[in-house]
Amino acid sequence: MPELPEVETIKRGLELVLPGKTIEGVDINYAGSIKAPSCEEFARQLPGLTFTGAGRRGKYLLLCLDDNSLLVVHLRMTGRLFFCESEIETDKHIHLKIIFKDGSRLYFHDVRKFGTIWWLPVSRACEIRGLAALGPEPLSADFDVSYFNSKTDRRSTNIKALLLDQTFVAGLGNIYVDEALHKSGILPTRPAKSLTTPERKKLITSVQEVLLDAISWRGTTFNDYRDAAGMSGQFQNRLSVYQRHHKPCLSCGTFICRTVVAGRGTHFCPSCQS
Ligand SMILES: [Zn+2]
Repeated sequence: MPELPEVETIKRGLELVLPGKTIEGVDINYAGSIKAPSCEEFARQLPGLTFTGAGRRGKYLLLCLDDNSLLVVHLRMTGRLFFCESEIETDKHIHLKIIFKDGSRLYFHDVRKFGTIWWLPVSRACEIRGLAALGPEPLSADFDVSYFNSKTDRRSTNIKALLLDQTFVAGLGNIYVDEALHKSGILPTRPAKSLTTPERKKLITSVQEVLLDAISWRGTTFNDYRDAAGMSGQFQNRLSVYQRHHKPCLSCGTFICRTVVAGRGTHFCPSCQS
């Protein structure tokens, strides 16, 4: 599933190509992808609008249009959003095609069909419940020890589940939580409230370093993720623990273990993490 670094990479790619593109037409091939408004309204009202920029909040892509509206895209499991200068050969997984006046196109491709798209005025973005409920951005100054303390001390949840909780911090998923916990030397099963202040500081820094490193390598591709130009990421070659079970830890040589924490496959080093 695309996480913050993948969505950020797509956003940066779209930022380079979308501003100034005026919509000529919209082809919807799978109505289930469009959450709001109705498909008819979506296809009728988007033509004539021009993209002005691209943003991101957590794992949500926010594409800005010149009438103060947003095209909000959540890729979920297998969604891809990519731009092409001209028509490409499409398959049955292309659920939405936006055709621009200059002949270029924006495609939404989604094998599992869990991805979701909304078009709404900026002022109504808070009606998207998951978006409105997001915690702070992990790369912002708001994600600090005092915030961490304010949210953890009464909870008995384990640290992995807490980091996956989008209302605690936005944009993390299974890959980067496992990587950040390894980098900070903390076991995923540790109760969040048991973390010492130095551990909390180290974890916040580790989350930020892992995310920035992954963004610089344009995200992680195992199967589905592609950037806005349709290219794979490279961070899968830089992972320390995720999907490395039965391989030696890059820090200490101990074999990486896999277990299930918070309902998710979880990778950790039994020597480096405690
Ligand atoms: Zn190790």
